Amino acid sequence: MTDTLISSDIDFEVDGKHTGYLRLPHSVHRSAYGRILIPAVMIRNGDGPTALFMAGNHGDEYEAQIALGKLCRELEAADIRGRLIILTMANFPAAQAGTRTSPIDGGNLNRTFPGNPLGTPTEMIAHYIEEVLLPKCDYFFDLHSGGSSLYYPPTLLRGLGHSPRERDELINLQAAFDAPYAWVFTSGGGRETKARTAMGGAGRKGVITLMAELGGGGAVSPEVLALTERGVRRMLHSIGMLPGYEPDATNGTRELTITDSVVAYDNGLFEPFCDVEDEVKDGDAAGQIHFPEEPWRDAKTVRFQHDGMVLCKRVPGRVERGDCLFQVGSDL
Ligand SMILES: [Zn+2]
Repeated sequence: MTDTLISSDIDFEVDGKHTGYLRLPHSVHRSAYGRILIPAVMIRNGDGPTALFMAGNHGDEYEAQIALGKLCRELEAADIRGRLIILTMANFPAAQAGTRTSPIDGGNLNRTFPGNPLGTPTEMIAHYIEEVLLPKCDYFFDLHSGGSSLYYPPTLLRGLGHSPRERDELINLQAAFDAPYAWVFTSGGGRETKARTAMGGAGRKGVITLMAELGGGGAVSPEVLALTERGVRRMLHSIGMLPGYEPDATNGTRELTITDSVVAYDNGLFEPFCDVEDEVKDGDAAGQIHFPEEPWRDAKTVRFQHDGMVLCKRVPGRVERGDCLFQVGSDL
């Protein structure tokens, strides 16, 4: 199904380094025949796998946008075996605004797959990725962070694999990326699923796929950015696409599965009692929600409900009912 209205400056079948735009028709008051120009880079050199690296799926997740931009500028066709496709600002309107969702249509790209070729801009982008780009790919790397509201230490995300070969590939890529943590999905994410994520789309197309959560909190961390740049090159090397790269020794990855999400049941101001990477026990106080509008009212304690390590925390101090405050991971 290639009935997309998005056209590409880039011919994905031609060797060499190509830069340009995916052109999404967008007719608005100030520009009757306007286009949304989504930057794309394709570097191809002969036979080899095809890998799509994507940042800006959520527009307020910055580390990978920078890391992949550096990769675009540093790599030439002679460095590559196969075909490398890079999107630095996948949901371009969101990335340009620095917001998780698109200011044009409110769309959350990573909840929009498989998309719609005749839908909103976000739906059209999801459809293009799933139906035009992913069918070309052997590998797909969807690089996120915690965005404006959450923070993760560098964490690779993967499924268990649908076959022994896929499982081995995922484990090899996880080792290559060499983040301190991996969040392993022990259920879901299968090819048969109706997952609305880019990872779900890749699964439907039979593409080996990994995600990552790389920092966040609405900022860019130099340490996380350096680890991202290193990890991307190491993964490319491990699949044979960057033969001249010499990887250094690994530090090792702790595999976790998420067992607890601590949620706010009150509106207020959150005082956390712990930080990411802390070990916690079932029943431990995670923090308190304060009510500064009624300073005479007792703060309400929020508790963990599982043993494990704090993998993710909320960043903004103001919280509302339903906000995720912490995620806890347990060793796989
Ligand atoms: Zn994200």
